[in-house]
Amino acid sequence: MKYPVYERFYTWQGEGVHLGRAAYFVRLYGCPQACPWCDSAGTWHRDYRPDGVTLMTAHEIAQAVAAESPDGAVVVITGGEPILFDLTALVDALHALGRRVHLETSGIAPLRGHLDWVTLSPKPFGTPPLPEVVQRAHEVKIIVHDPSDIDAGLATLDGLPDDAVIWLHPEWSRARERDPAVLNAITETVKASPRLRAGYQMHKLYRADDLDARSVKTLIPLGGNPTLGY
Ligand code: SF4
Repeated sequence: MKYPVYERFYTWQGEGVHLGRAAYFVRLYGCPQACPWCDSAGTWHRDYRPDGVTLMTAHEIAQAVAAESPDGAVVVITGGEPILFDLTALVDALHALGRRVHLETSGIAPLRGHLDWVTLSPKPFGTPPLPEVVQRAHEVKIIVHDPSDIDAGLATLDGLPDDAVIWLHPEWSRARERDPAVLNAITETVKASPRLRAGYQMHKLYRADDLDARSVKTLIPLGGNPTLGY
């Protein structure tokens, strides 16, 4: 099979437990969640999606990873919503290179592939994650655009392993504007529930992804654009 690759680039992981690790990102095309603040709207929104995407086999992606990043860099499969695809062949090809393979997903379909790390970002206002994906998550990122998103996200996590890390991330437009309602809600929630952690999208401060010429540079309005319906 061939995977629709929206973009690929070599940078570092900007959030979560693996923050700061060199990482090669493979961003697959397609997502039905339509998050109102999506910062990867080029993978699904009619006004931002490209005329075409590159279709690549697992072997071709692995060859690109080997040529464009050094041994030791993890590979992060993201989207879009990569869980829509059977990732078994891709993960196996990347393992054959000796790479760790991480997945970022909203968990809306069965997980196919022997991933080394699963980051679940539930989207409760869209389709919530399947219990079988919640049970396989190593960490969770709850995106907080409004303080009510915290409880809505936590309510999707029945069956999460006890050792999984749960992050509360300010949605980027809220973080950029230092929205006190969102930032203070995260702070108070973490203080009241020590299992939770306050997070941040560090790569956006560095603009680290932009340094790779292969990353998509199309400006997509962070924080959503209500006039465009999302
Ligand atoms: S799940 Fe991710 S890619 Fe899909 S719309 Fe939401 S933020 Fe965008």
